[in-house]
Amino acid sequence: MAAMAAPHLSIVVPMFNEEEVLPLFIARLRPVADGLGVSYEVVAVDDGSHDQTAIGLQRARRDWPQLRVIRLRANSGHQAAISAGLARARGAYVVTLDADLQDPPEVVAEMLAAAQEKHVEVVYGIRGDRSSDSVFKRATARFFYRSMDKLAETGAHHDAGDFRLMSRATVDAINALPEYGRVLRFVVPALGFPSASVTYRRDERAAGSSKYPFAKMLRLSIDSVTAFSLAPLRFATFLGLAGGLGALVLLLYALYARAAGHVVAGWTSTVVIVTAVGAVQLLALGILGEYVGRLYAASQARPSYYVAYDSEEEQRAP
Ligand code: UDP
Ligand code: MG
Repeated sequence: MAAMAAPHLSIVVPMFNEEEVLPLFIARLRPVADGLGVSYEVVAVDDGSHDQTAIGLQRARRDWPQLRVIRLRANSGHQAAISAGLARARGAYVVTLDADLQDPPEVVAEMLAAAQEKHVEVVYGIRGDRSSDSVFKRATARFFYRSMDKLAETGAHHDAGDFRLMSRATVDAINALPEYGRVLRFVVPALGFPSASVTYRRDERAAGSSKYPFAKMLRLSIDSVTAFSLAPLRFATFLGLAGGLGALVLLLYALYARAAGHVVAGWTSTVVIVTAVGAVQLLALGILGEYVGRLYAASQARPSYYVAYDSEEEQRAP
């Protein structure tokens, strides 16, 4: 099998332990992709799955030449998996979508049409109906986007996730960013390319369970904030100032009480002050730590993922 020329469209799909949904996903995606009327490649990025995802992908590749498989050495996270796919996708357009069929593949045709008709470089998928997301997911998402709006003006749409179509120029611009822990839904709007959007209905996950536990959601939020805003650092400074002011008031009071000859019992207030000051210091240290951590990671310049295998390179090898 010869290596394909650069296709018109690359469909990048991050997958982590998706053995259950994989057959459904392939059965739904393939006719849609074949019916687009353009050359395409599907770049499935196996994000270090430890179930049968890799085997399922190899099996599917046997009779689907457009399916390309990239395997990461270890589970590196949704955003890193997408980044790996973007770095290797060759299409004139690249669309990223989830493997669990929450992003309907049929919408890709609308995105392509919108990009060409409106002459834009990015087409965002906007979730018009999120009733399939859990109450918890929607509530945390709302809180997260509102906070991001307050902390940084990223221009990201609140109901846009990682289902979007990007032109080659956009993908090249993303690939040129050396940023560690990049959160693409904020990075892409920040690039400032002309964009359009299509609204879609977000379906339920077709099979399997979410690969986004709370810890990963929290990590994504912290990465987003620290990537785009210095407000938490200023908040730490503000806490320090407020604490200093409080201490000054207390000092004045203590001097007054001593001069007035009051007997100060003092235990409760001491405990409260020590605990509160300790907590504030830890918080400020934690905030500092997040930024120092980002600097550290950036200075190490280690990739956020390692590619263990790429089916395309296997084909090119003698
Ligand atoms: N995913 C990934 N690596 C991870 C976690 C998730 O590649 O560490 C993929 C996952 O296979 C899916 C997409 O990212 O294709 C979105 O994950 P999921 O559907 O579990 O998230 P949710 O929709 O619950 O937020
Ligand atoms: Mg999902």
